[in-house]
Amino acid sequence: MTYDAAVIGAGPGGYECALKIAAKGGKVIVFERDLVGGVCTNRGCIPTKTLAESANLVDKIASASSFGVEVELSGIDNIKLLKRRDRVSMILRKGVEKLLSDAGVELVYSEAEIVSAKKVMAKGKSYGVKNIVVATGSVACGVGSLELDHEFVISGDDAATSHKLPTKVVIIGAGFIGCEYAAIYGSLGCDVTLIEAEDRLLPQEDKMISELLEQVLSKRVAIRTSARVEAIDADEKIVSCANESFSCDLVLLAVGRKPVYPKGLGSVGVKFEAQGIPVDVQMKTNVNGIYAIGDVTTHQQLAHAAYEAAKVAADNILGGTSSIDYSTLPRCVFTQPEVGRVGVTEEDAPEGALIGVASYLANGKARCMGEKFGFAKVIVDKESHTLLAAHIMGARASDLIGEATLAVKNRITAEQIIATIHPHPTLCELLKSACVDALS
Ligand code: NAD
Repeated sequence: MTYDAAVIGAGPGGYECALKIAAKGGKVIVFERDLVGGVCTNRGCIPTKTLAESANLVDKIASASSFGVEVELSGIDNIKLLKRRDRVSMILRKGVEKLLSDAGVELVYSEAEIVSAKKVMAKGKSYGVKNIVVATGSVACGVGSLELDHEFVISGDDAATSHKLPTKVVIIGAGFIGCEYAAIYGSLGCDVTLIEAEDRLLPQEDKMISELLEQVLSKRVAIRTSARVEAIDADEKIVSCANESFSCDLVLLAVGRKPVYPKGLGSVGVKFEAQGIPVDVQMKTNVNGIYAIGDVTTHQQLAHAAYEAAKVAADNILGGTSSIDYSTLPRCVFTQPEVGRVGVTEEDAPEGALIGVASYLANGKARCMGEKFGFAKVIVDKESHTLLAAHIMGARASDLIGEATLAVKNRITAEQIIATIHPHPTLCELLKSACVDALS
């Protein structure tokens, strides 16, 4: 039998692509050497967000008295907390397995090797295929002389499956992973030092976000910016920057991720670089019939970017002409408070763009919730008044960015957002208020 497609890797990109092909009647086989659901379900998004919910609960209990609720935190049961994390991942993983099976997708738990553009090998068996989708994802990596040993120096992937919480941790890198773990560990009572080489946390985000995050996070985490870690001494358990050293019982190295390539990729002529496999807008590699999607490509390493790429690749495999558009890809950081972003930063906005800001302090629902920290900022085109970007920091920012993304993608104007009745009292009124501010 010849399959319409072999998908290598069953993370968000891989399983979504297989499901989309199967839904349209295509015959598809998926190869997975580890766990279905990939990093997102098992070592990334889901376990960290589950931990973040426990951490948020600790913060809520700490402020309960101000709500008139007298409770005392009698302790944190780490074992229970980590078991819950693993259970949530397991349930979602089983859900993906069921979806694949219900859709008639063949799933082979094995490493797969690309033999040619039309043949894949796994467990000594050869499979004839019309197309191959490389969805093998990424893995955490070190930088320069800073390397992972997965014991004293661990990655975010390791932290997401570890069966204990650190007592005293140094986190290197204040990107997405570093900031999320700093917030989680800080709330769970660990002694945390967060070190970032650039001059601010989340250096790729809007400056206002970095500033507020530092203000909030610094209450429970020691922060060093403009400080590059130069060495880690695993024997002495010391992390050193040029002017300062830190002792700890664990180092979380969060300085980026690198692509994972399947066997045979190079020998069949697929071009790849250190940053990933270059693909065109149809998710095609340079070899006819071989597609690549998700973290293994040179694109943004985000699960929802992989979902979108999966949809595009599936359609093209079945004879369509879909193309990817990442220009309105939202990004969220699940710190406490959360960050949500779509579109350009204020620094990169076109000249003269209108800026509007609404503060959580002036929002009724935020006040009811006791959420004082946060803002929604919009960037609006000066001529057409279409929404170009939104940056939200505060409670539920990751949910709130959905409306802004819809607006940016569909070229909605600030006037149209203002003319839309928003329910009251809600946090979603923040976007409307920021638009009013931009036009005033
Ligand atoms: P990152 O690239 O986002 O951040 C790494 C940070 O480490 C940078 O700010 C860099 O300046 C800093 N750094 C590098 N070397 C350093 C040194 N020697 N000393 C101090 N600081 C140093 O990488 P990440 O946080 O590991 O995330 C990897 C990928 O995973 C990202 O592309 C991200 O999109 C994705 N991710 C997304 C989410 C989410 O969507 N919420 C969560 C986790 C990860």
